[in-house]
Amino acid sequence: MSAIPFDDAVDAPAQRSADEAAYRRQIEYLFARSPFYSAKLAGAGIRSAADAGGLDGIDELPFTTKDELRQSQQDVPPFGAHLAAVRGNVARVFSTSGTTGTPSYIPLTRRDIADWVVIGSRTYSRCGLAAGQALITTYNAGPFVAGLALESFQNIGVTHIPIGTGNTERLVTALRLLKPQAIACTPSYAGYIAEWARAHGFDVRQSGVERIMVAGEPGGGEPDMRRALEETWNARIYEAMGLGDVAASLWGECEAQSGMHFSGAGFVHVELIDPESGRPLPTSDDATGELVYTHLRRDAAPLLRFRSRDHVRVWTSRCACGRATLRVRCIGRTDDMLIVRGVNVFPSAIREIVNRFQPKVSGHIAVRPARRGVKQEPPLKVAVELAPDLSPDPTFAAAIADAVRSALVFSAEIVLLPSGSLPRSEYKSKLVDYSEAKAA
Ligand SMILES: [Zn+2]
Repeated sequence: MSAIPFDDAVDAPAQRSADEAAYRRQIEYLFARSPFYSAKLAGAGIRSAADAGGLDGIDELPFTTKDELRQSQQDVPPFGAHLAAVRGNVARVFSTSGTTGTPSYIPLTRRDIADWVVIGSRTYSRCGLAAGQALITTYNAGPFVAGLALESFQNIGVTHIPIGTGNTERLVTALRLLKPQAIACTPSYAGYIAEWARAHGFDVRQSGVERIMVAGEPGGGEPDMRRALEETWNARIYEAMGLGDVAASLWGECEAQSGMHFSGAGFVHVELIDPESGRPLPTSDDATGELVYTHLRRDAAPLLRFRSRDHVRVWTSRCACGRATLRVRCIGRTDDMLIVRGVNVFPSAIREIVNRFQPKVSGHIAVRPARRGVKQEPPLKVAVELAPDLSPDPTFAAAIADAVRSALVFSAEIVLLPSGSLPRSEYKSKLVDYSEAKAA
């Protein structure tokens, strides 16, 4: 158990000065221990920690991208030249699935693990999860960084009931017999469990679950999707987000549900940048941009200005809960983005617009591009599933297309499908379906 409390209610100036000292130590550590960063910084004309300066000058330092880390792992297997710890001190190795087929490895020392558990404990306790409550988790998480979320739950002191995915019947039985107050899953799976239970004669509103902690994909923060899930379950939805290379469970919502609070104070420094120009953006309420992370204390694989590819909206004003830590809502990931005649389009943003038409739509959509690749010509085809007992109606399709055009500035061809037509997921929903696409 760490001495740092779960709730990071340190005042901002004190946090800033602690972070400044930690950052300078971390830069010294990079020069001493990380072949990747000593070379990278030298390439940018920075030959010592003194050259790098402090946090005020961090935006002068080069970014790190996921592609660079992958390349580094290929060149210097298995961990890459950014491994800064002695091999024997690596206590855990997580894999990320990786879109290219080769997993990327994320090593942690014992101290790194302890730090992630503190970060995750902040994230998950903030929504009211506390010792004495029971929690079902659905992460098949052993090999993946979400595994450390499980250790955070233990640290919080809940009665932990790991079920994993792939056995909804066992999960629903656990809901009925063990009566947990909380469940942790993807938003897609929260919807799937409710549908499955209803089809098998059990209404999840009767389960007694009070809070559902969702992570792993966008959706939990989209207002209409959240409202629908909350009504389905008669429970509150709280969103969390992290990323493997930086820290699991790095952001989490409080009971006010107004964006995910940053949980990495003292461990991770966060910046907001313009994803096109790379220039830093001032963090003020409603600003949008890409999150960039720098480890303030990481032994095994410390990263400097790592581009997350997560696009977010931020808030800096004090939350209703009283905390003034940075809050975000994820808008989408660069990796999922399509460009429709010059307009950046996130599939999750399309779903968000479609969900304004609940309860006439089911909440399931599939973007069906006409060709492979990121660049698409309008109209972009979007399959939208209707609520049960409704049949496709051209006027309704046109109304959805109008809403998409006015909110997202591209033209969509809306294809309405009967309820139950689109695949359900026990893990993450696939919002883009290339099965109709021709080669680009
Ligand atoms: Zn709050």
